[in-house]
Amino acid sequence: MEKRRLGTTGLEVSRLCFGTLTLSSAQAAFSAREGGELLAYAFGKGINFWDTAEIYETYPHIRAALRLLANKPVISTKTYAWSSESARASVDQARRALDLDVIDIVLLHEQESVLTMDGHREAFSYLLTQKEKGVIRAVGLSTHAVEPVLALAAAADSSTDSASVWGDIDPGPYREADVVHPLLNRRGLGLLDGTASQMALACERAHAAGLGIYGMKMLGGGHLLPEFDEAVSYALGLTFVDAFAVGMQSQAEVDMNVALFNAEEVDPAWLQATRSRQRRLVIGDWCTGCGACVERCGGRALRLEGGKVVADSSRCIFCGYCATVCRDFVIKVI
Ligand code: SF4
Ligand code: SF4
Repeated sequence: MEKRRLGTTGLEVSRLCFGTLTLSSAQAAFSAREGGELLAYAFGKGINFWDTAEIYETYPHIRAALRLLANKPVISTKTYAWSSESARASVDQARRALDLDVIDIVLLHEQESVLTMDGHREAFSYLLTQKEKGVIRAVGLSTHAVEPVLALAAAADSSTDSASVWGDIDPGPYREADVVHPLLNRRGLGLLDGTASQMALACERAHAAGLGIYGMKMLGGGHLLPEFDEAVSYALGLTFVDAFAVGMQSQAEVDMNVALFNAEEVDPAWLQATRSRQRRLVIGDWCTGCGACVERCGGRALRLEGGKVVADSSRCIFCGYCATVCRDFVIKVI
């Protein structure tokens, strides 16, 4: 498995990153032991880069995997913290739950715009203090929008006029961001603003400014399965993207994705099964219509109708975020 330097972080990561959301209760609902065994298997296949987030609740799976391994992967997590206190709580929780003194990468989760970033600057500053102390190795953000990527690129490159993206807002601590984790696919499916080519250009600029880039949703949450070959070759052809996070649920899926990323021959039967697989958002009939998931869905794929939630499958990218806020476990991505 090809390894790349993640920007200027000094971290060497496999081009295929294991996105652990698929192991969570919102998706495959693996036990910690099952998830840990699959992650350890993936590590044995050369996947040394694992992506998680506080809300995925996959720290137990990662901890179980770490117990099985002699060497440690590069672990990236995400937090919705907005203040110093909430950021401290997130970092402490990650270190405790993962049983690690040092977290490789901590990202602000789902930053939508410069305004969102401005509202989270205190948390970002806190992450930077932890980086200085050696508790975190690299910091950055994840996003489904072009603007935050452009904003980090402009902030990191002193030769550009950052006001063209930031306006009157001072980029401040964001000048020291190391990593960005953007939604990136050939059709721009799931983007909150802009097009696929605008996102690719923003990532290219950010990478040239020294940021490490690892993409997500290369298959648009499954919508690009009918054009699987084109979607994969588009993603892997983006040389300025250091890695791509892909969710996996079985050893066979790990093997096939490793072959795909290694440009090796892939079992045609698996390819056929993957291309024809349809992902679905399942909504149970015990929905109380509280609306929490509607508010949570940045893609505006949910609405309330007759006191129950209804999904627009053409807008859904199967991220599973709605499921994480449903206290009654009504929603599942399968
Ligand atoms: S959060 Fe759960 S109960 Fe509330 S509207 Fe959504 S699916 Fe229904
Ligand atoms: S409906 Fe749920 S799974 Fe689909 S895009 Fe919205 S938050 Fe993600």
